[in-house]
Amino acid sequence: MPEPQAILASVFGFSDFRPGQGEIVEAVTAGEPVLAIMPTGGGKSLCYQLPALLRDGVTLVVSPLIALMRDQVRGLQEAGVAAGALTSANTEDETRAIFDQLESGTLKLLYLAPERLGSAAGMLRRANVSLIAVDEAHCVSQWGHDFRPDYLRIGELRRSLGVPLAAFTATADAETRDEIVTRLFDGVEPRMFLRGFDRPNIHLAFRPKDKPRQQILSFAAARKGQSGIVYCGTRAKTEGLADALGREGHAAAAYHGGMEAEQRRHVETRFAVEDGLIVCATVAFGMGVDKPDIRWVAHADLPKSIESYYQEIGRAGRDGAPAETMTLYGPDDIRLRRSQIDEGLAPPERKSADHGRLNALLGLAEALGCRRQRLLSYFGETAEPCGNCDLCDRPPDTFDGTEAVRMALSAILRTGEYFGAGHLIDVLTGRQTEKVKQRSHDDLPTFGVGRATQPRQWQAIFRQMMGLDLVRPDPERHGALRMTEAARPVLRGEDSVTLRRDVLTATDRPAAKAL
Ligand code: ADP
Ligand code: ZN
Repeated sequence: MPEPQAILASVFGFSDFRPGQGEIVEAVTAGEPVLAIMPTGGGKSLCYQLPALLRDGVTLVVSPLIALMRDQVRGLQEAGVAAGALTSANTEDETRAIFDQLESGTLKLLYLAPERLGSAAGMLRRANVSLIAVDEAHCVSQWGHDFRPDYLRIGELRRSLGVPLAAFTATADAETRDEIVTRLFDGVEPRMFLRGFDRPNIHLAFRPKDKPRQQILSFAAARKGQSGIVYCGTRAKTEGLADALGREGHAAAAYHGGMEAEQRRHVETRFAVEDGLIVCATVAFGMGVDKPDIRWVAHADLPKSIESYYQEIGRAGRDGAPAETMTLYGPDDIRLRRSQIDEGLAPPERKSADHGRLNALLGLAEALGCRRQRLLSYFGETAEPCGNCDLCDRPPDTFDGTEAVRMALSAILRTGEYFGAGHLIDVLTGRQTEKVKQRSHDDLPTFGVGRATQPRQWQAIFRQMMGLDLVRPDPERHGALRMTEAARPVLRGEDSVTLRRDVLTATDRPAAKAL
């Protein structure tokens, strides 16, 4: 049998495997059940294409995107591989050619659109199928955004053919993973591979929001002439920021889902061909962006989950040269993201999973040690401190915040869990505001106990308490802060809390050198 390495070079024209590919190819070729999680662009298709060439018979590839499927088939055919696709877009001739090759046993890869799974089952039982590869396996998840009901047929097909199955996805969260295992592997754990999530050339940084527009402007000013993306939480902000950047002499454009399709395409094209354009965009910008030399990505508002964060910063530095990111976050972001989840239409268990994904991102924002280590550990990869994030550059100044957190929790409980951070800070620092007097909160034992700490520092403490999910804004009480279960051990003195002293005046780091 030829060596994988030899085929990698002779058929695919690559000299080396990407991280993870070699071991996945080996397991899939050996016929082990495999679930491989790799980021978009990580090179998943090779992980079933190459084993298909090493195994007898034909490999069935289920993939949800017809255009992508046809692209891959064309590429394989150009490389001299017998491959075909059965989709609704086929001509009769194409279909007949595929059946002929199946019959003569020469076809090596058969791509199948999910909607063909039902009608093709009989034909597939007669063909010499030796492996099923499932691309975009997260489409089997009913909670996911890409759910494809037809994917639910795959498990049955695997049982009836009695062949090994290898599933591939870029979606790494545990719920999706579990669902894939249940639906595609009948609940029997396959071999899991989680590889290639690290993007070592991307510098990671978070900053608490403090005059956010100014923060974005100075970040961009230090990177003048470089292509960048500013992700914004609202359409209005994309336009406001693009104008502001324009006034500072940058080439900048707004991009959001409310713009005409033609306008949007115009911005996409400009971004692709122009050097140094800044696009201020909502998350609508990104799917089709394939620009290798995006030098930076900034978030003017906190993304909605750790997965979105990873995907959005991942658009920077595809060329492998140094790239920078900066994510701004503040209590308003946390409140907004929580209420978006709470007010959404998802079932309760999905909402609690979404809160968990948001918590993972907040934990990253408030991290005390290397951000990359923390990010990768979320995806299940282990790593050493990276030396390329703001916390490796400059370890945060921390303090034992247990006492402060207890004071804050006490203020929350004694005021009936009915107020936001502003009023609570007034109570803690002993300010005699109208509201304080009206409610007689100056009579509380908590009144003024936190005087020694600046209101600004208290804001940072409350933000971190929200980030640690010790308190949550209650959407039914106008975002009033309520204590969570996680805070009880702290209140009872069984747990301590380490907090960061925010250095809001931290100097910006120098821009990454352009190529
Ligand atoms: P995914 O499906 O994981 O998003 P693809 O399989 O489409 O990624 O691969 C992304 C790109 O990487 C493709 O252009 C592919 O040709 C290229 N690629 C894959 N493996 C290698 C390799 N070992 N060496 C160089 N380029 C590779
Ligand atoms: Zn680091």
